[in-house]
Amino acid sequence: MKQNQLFERTRIRLALWYAIVMGLILTVCGFGLYITVSHAHEVALDRELEFIAKTLHNNLESKLNQPKQLSPVVKELLPNICIVESGCISPQVSSQTDVLNAINQNYYVRLFNNSGDLIAIAGSLPKKSKFPFQNQLWQTIKDDAGNSYHQISLSLQAKNNLNWGYLQVGRNIADVNSYMDAVKLSLLIGLPMAMIMVAIASWWLSGLAMRPIYQSYRQIQQFTADAAHELRTPLAAIQATVDSAFLAPNLHAAEIWDILRTIKRQNQRITNLVTDLLMLSRFDRDSISLQVEVCCLNDIINDLIEEFAAMAIAAKVNLISTIKVDKPINIIGDSEQLYRLFSNLIVNAIQYTSPGGKVDVVLESYENEAVIQVRDTGIGIPNRELSHIFDRFYRVNDDRSRHTGGSGLGLAIAQAIIKSHRGSLNVESEVGKGSIFTVELIGNRGDGEKRR
Ligand code: ADP
Repeated sequence: MKQNQLFERTRIRLALWYAIVMGLILTVCGFGLYITVSHAHEVALDRELEFIAKTLHNNLESKLNQPKQLSPVVKELLPNICIVESGCISPQVSSQTDVLNAINQNYYVRLFNNSGDLIAIAGSLPKKSKFPFQNQLWQTIKDDAGNSYHQISLSLQAKNNLNWGYLQVGRNIADVNSYMDAVKLSLLIGLPMAMIMVAIASWWLSGLAMRPIYQSYRQIQQFTADAAHELRTPLAAIQATVDSAFLAPNLHAAEIWDILRTIKRQNQRITNLVTDLLMLSRFDRDSISLQVEVCCLNDIINDLIEEFAAMAIAAKVNLISTIKVDKPINIIGDSEQLYRLFSNLIVNAIQYTSPGGKVDVVLESYENEAVIQVRDTGIGIPNRELSHIFDRFYRVNDDRSRHTGGSGLGLAIAQAIIKSHRGSLNVESEVGKGSIFTVELIGNRGDGEKRR
């Protein structure tokens, strides 16, 4: 693939697009993951704060007697509370009701009166930070040192249903922020690394995707080269014959006839080749329209045996047929194509059988299947060649095939015809002993025997 610039460029383009699309998908996924983790932390933080705030709120409300007054019980509940007017009370040993100490040292509690003036403060809010009260349920704020806090504010009522003021519970969210920073950092480092891996994978995958296309491109190239080569031989022969005719000054009528015969023979070869190529290309494009009708295989075989009898006699080969069925076997197909299929096989069998050999065309039937075998006692085909003989222009022995006038397209056409009839064509062969080409066709309406 590397030698072909078009394929190399297409591979690069494919890999690039793949990497871009995968990169976008990964980035969106990474962003989504970050949002999800961050949201999960926010929800957990809010729940924690809400729980602490509501627990404190319920405990405090039951102990508040008068607005603006803090009963001593409050100091028991929050031992490290600092009352703004009278200075801070020294922290006491934590009691069971000290909710804040029990949960986390990061928390702070502030109590405000109805006009939003700070009355008392407890917990870990730095003394320097002066956040004016804002009557909002949830708030996220930043102090002078850049620390972020998240807080919840709830209104407090004294025992006689009079508004006492507000309770505010907050938390330093530095730990949450640093966790989210770590997530962000690992995504920022992880994404480029994933992109590098995606780029490598996409290069490899695009290579895999291009391979079958490249193979079929090479096949087409090979096919074109083979076709050109096959056409060049008869064309060169015609050219040489005509050139020699021009060089001879006084040609006799017999010599002119000879030249014309040679030109006609070579022209016939070109015509056959072009017809075969055209037929194969039509099969490839599925544009061949089969003239489907009921075809009697017994008749086709008998006709072909008659047709090739002279050829077999000339080749000193004994051509016979063995019909192993009592009734005629009919199949649905294109009789012209079926004639072509069996003639290719019979002609090959005669051509590749030495004088004194035998070619037997056997017709059998099993349930819904007609089986036709062309058996010969010819030269056979080596095992390693068996998988190639159906390839276009493939010849086992170039010299012998050329001598017989074969172009290496006969079996490729036979296989295309079989494929269009939804049948199968198989070969068994042994060098020096002969070959058996087996054609299986469906559709003889069950008048045959059961397969043994
Ligand atoms: P060709 O026109 O050269 O005969 P085919 O496609 O019909 O081309 O056959 C391909 C090759 O398969 C032949 O060149 C020949 O070597 C081999 N082959 C086909 N039929 C037989 C056979 N009956 N016995 C031996 N070799 C065969």
